[in-house]
Amino acid sequence: MPGKVILNKKVYNTIVASCVRYANTRIPEEDWLEIYGILIGHIEKKSRNIIVSEAYPITHTMKKGHILKVSYDSPDYVDASLIEEEAYSHDPPEFIVGWYHSHPGIKVMFSQDDIKNQLGYQTNNPDAIGLVFNQVRLVRQVELARRKGDPSKLLENDPGFKIFRLKDPSRGVEASYNEVEFEFSDCEITHSFIEDAKVLVGDTTKLLLKDNLVEHTRLNLEKQMEKIKGVYIGTESYLKTLIKKGETSRISGVVETQKTELDSLIKINQRDIFKLQELIYYVEYKERGEVIFKMKDLFEKWQNETTALIKSFDELKSKL
Ligand SMILES: [Zn+2]
Repeated sequence: MPGKVILNKKVYNTIVASCVRYANTRIPEEDWLEIYGILIGHIEKKSRNIIVSEAYPITHTMKKGHILKVSYDSPDYVDASLIEEEAYSHDPPEFIVGWYHSHPGIKVMFSQDDIKNQLGYQTNNPDAIGLVFNQVRLVRQVELARRKGDPSKLLENDPGFKIFRLKDPSRGVEASYNEVEFEFSDCEITHSFIEDAKVLVGDTTKLLLKDNLVEHTRLNLEKQMEKIKGVYIGTESYLKTLIKKGETSRISGVVETQKTELDSLIKINQRDIFKLQELIYYVEYKERGEVIFKMKDLFEKWQNETTALIKSFDELKSKL
């Protein structure tokens, strides 16, 4: 008998962010896309528990010919084998133990296509699992009905996903499936676990844009930097006016107020950058090299510019 699935918070966050990136409140519902990824891990000998250590988003729904579907392109097969090759070197050696995909706003279950895909995994590894995530299930804590109009069921502390395995893969596409029990190795699914997950949904929606991520982030940071520089320049010219008018006693107070404004502007963006430093690891495998490299560059540039600006601001008082 195959055992249960043991995940960790990092795997879960990767699944949540990679799925929400393509289906969230910033995107019209009719444009929500499915995402497809793989699960890396190993199987414990005695218990046959599946220990999932990492999740890798691979691809999302794209137009293939005339239809929209989520499936591997040839480079994706190469990526999956690269990931697996690297995983073999872990101790204990790891491999692809299953896959995950999203049903954005759709009931968490296996469709006919999902059963076909799962057959591929279970043919290679009878214990292989398939995880299905729906962000609406997580955010609203409801189990959506299979058909529109049917009542949905209220949930409590539900992570938004289920894990499935085919009962008898030898029956091919006729095979039915079971839910597989799961737990987390590094946390319990409590109310605060769900609240954290919802914060991640919000941050992903705001910051991890699906298209032109680097370019959007760059433009946004530049815009914010202009605002911050504006505070500095404004303060400087105001202080000069005060000096001209001989009202030097007011300098100190003006500098204090303006410094508070500058700090709060920086702090808001600092939080986003801090979040983005985590989120960039949830992009698709093929994007990782470029996105992570370029985003780190942007963060560094931002850091240098703000440090310099704070320094010049602090020097303002003594300079004048
Ligand atoms: Zn599906």
